[in-house]
Amino acid sequence: MINDIKEVLLDETAIQKKVKEIARQISADYNNKFPVIICILKGGVIFLTDLIKNISIPVELDFMALSSYGDTTKSSGVVKIKKDIDVDIAGRHVIIVEDIVDSGLTLKYINDYFTQHKPASIKICTLLDKPQAHKTKIHIDYLGFEVGNEFVVGYGLDYAQKYRNLPYIGILKEEIYS
Ligand code: 5GP
Repeated sequence: MINDIKEVLLDETAIQKKVKEIARQISADYNNKFPVIICILKGGVIFLTDLIKNISIPVELDFMALSSYGDTTKSSGVVKIKKDIDVDIAGRHVIIVEDIVDSGLTLKYINDYFTQHKPASIKICTLLDKPQAHKTKIHIDYLGFEVGNEFVVGYGLDYAQKYRNLPYIGILKEEIYS
């Protein structure tokens, strides 16, 4: 796997430090609010598990799965729910946990969908953001790192279902997907 990586962008130490900072902020912001953390599968799951281990207040967990890129590196722009949430979020404080915001279309869709269920609030927490790639206005409340437009893998992020188990985030060599 390691031979397919052009460059390590964020190593384990940098990621873990940032995850702890975000967890501390969430713990402070949601004291006595028992928020529902909704993780977007599958990419967000490694970030989620490290994050919640460092959150010091009670939280409820749920998961949502959406249609993804398939085995390519370009967004289809079409978002479809493959697995819906189980919890009733009406009147609840919702935190969406995502791996990366690219065009922002996925999060816009989720945000609009959740809004119809009348939660008390919705905030967005993403490990990575590609600000130059946004195609819609998106407000990120908790952000790990901004990255460029390169295709990145590791720490939950895949290419063709591979590389999710790398403990760091790296740029994939172009020859792997071209
Ligand atoms: P968006 O709807 O914001 O364009 O796309 C968000 C989703 O696209 C992410 O949740 C992720 O699954 C995928 N994605 C976007 N950029 C990358 C990337 O650089 N690497 C990987 N592995 N997935 C990406």
